Amino acid sequence: LDSKLPHVGTTIFTTMSQMAAKSGAINLAQGFPDFPAPAYLLERLAHHGQAGLNQYAPMAGAPPLLSGIERLSARCYQRSVDAESMVTVCSGATEGLFVAIQSLVHSGDEVIVFDPCYDSYAPAVELAGGSCVHIPLMPPAYHIDWQALESSITPRTRCIIVNSPHNPTATCLDRAGWLELERIVLKHQLWLISDEVYEHIVFDGAERLSASCFPALAERTAIVSSFGKSFHCTGWKLGYVIAPPELTAEFRKIHQYVTFSSFTPAQYAIADMLTEHPEHIDELGSFYQQKRDLFVRELAGSRLTLLPSAGTYFLLADYSAISDLDDMAFCRWLTTERGVAAIPLSVFYQSPPDTRIIRLCFAKGDDTLIAAAEKLCQL
Ligand code: PMP
Ligand code: GLN
Repeated sequence: LDSKLPHVGTTIFTTMSQMAAKSGAINLAQGFPDFPAPAYLLERLAHHGQAGLNQYAPMAGAPPLLSGIERLSARCYQRSVDAESMVTVCSGATEGLFVAIQSLVHSGDEVIVFDPCYDSYAPAVELAGGSCVHIPLMPPAYHIDWQALESSITPRTRCIIVNSPHNPTATCLDRAGWLELERIVLKHQLWLISDEVYEHIVFDGAERLSASCFPALAERTAIVSSFGKSFHCTGWKLGYVIAPPELTAEFRKIHQYVTFSSFTPAQYAIADMLTEHPEHIDELGSFYQQKRDLFVRELAGSRLTLLPSAGTYFLLADYSAISDLDDMAFCRWLTTERGVAAIPLSVFYQSPPDTRIIRLCFAKGDDTLIAAAEKLCQL
């Protein structure tokens, strides 16, 4: 078969989760909570299924969920969005990103991404006939070099993809960064795809920032988010995209032929959660900050050097004091010989820097974090 994605293999998340399961290791690799979703949310899911909401939802999303997203945007970012023309519910952020990319990228277009880069962007760009221009972010700060960004723009550049809070580096764009991005997008008449799946998970009192906070930028942006991250239900694969009406119309043309609509009872359950428990999302930052702090405290005696985590449910750890192995080999050894699975950082780079860094997920019960830290302290 003539592969359309000759360079693509199995994702690192599948590879490491399978290795963790086979070795009985604690899985701090693939990012997902190991604790239950809120009881109220689970009750509403069962309720809506039993009440008969088991047929296709409207293509753009269930009306109560669309209103819930309007209220969420107003409450978190003081942005008024018209869901009818600007919001589409989709099957996880993964579908949202894929469809946003297919909507914007034409054959021969260039898309600027930042490495380490979430793994689903580049294959989606390639399938659209475009190519990615990779701008590296370097440890320990992983700051965007705005000059490098601007000088990489060509007449073929169609859009930029950003992700803040950022997986895997756990850094966040600050207000000055967003303003710089806005300036560049507007000056060069680009589009932005803003992957904001960890938007509510920010730490140490930082303000939640979104492309929604910058009205002129928002006019040129597809914002992609995920309920999986915010409600501890990654397996429900429910997300949404907010985009200006012109882009939403294109987005829906494609979405209607990719999935048409997403799991109906879950849409109603999340809508209820947004109405009845708006505090859940506001408390997410402190919920995960406690987990981060517990994990960091428990790792105090280890030979890992931890990098700061300002958001997401990940933190990076430099293991160069422990081993000279490359990060893939180290993760394999850590999983099979020491019982903790992690993600190597190099897989997210087009040209990996010569560093020894792994990503650890702390979206885990406290007991899991303590048990994993004990093993990591023995390295
Ligand atoms: N973008 C980033 C940065 C992610 O970390 C993830 C999930 N791990 C996604 C997109 C995909 O989200 P979903 O599970 O809702 O498809
Ligand atoms: N986004 C999750 C992570 O970074 C994984 C999602 C997936 O496996 N596709 O770990």
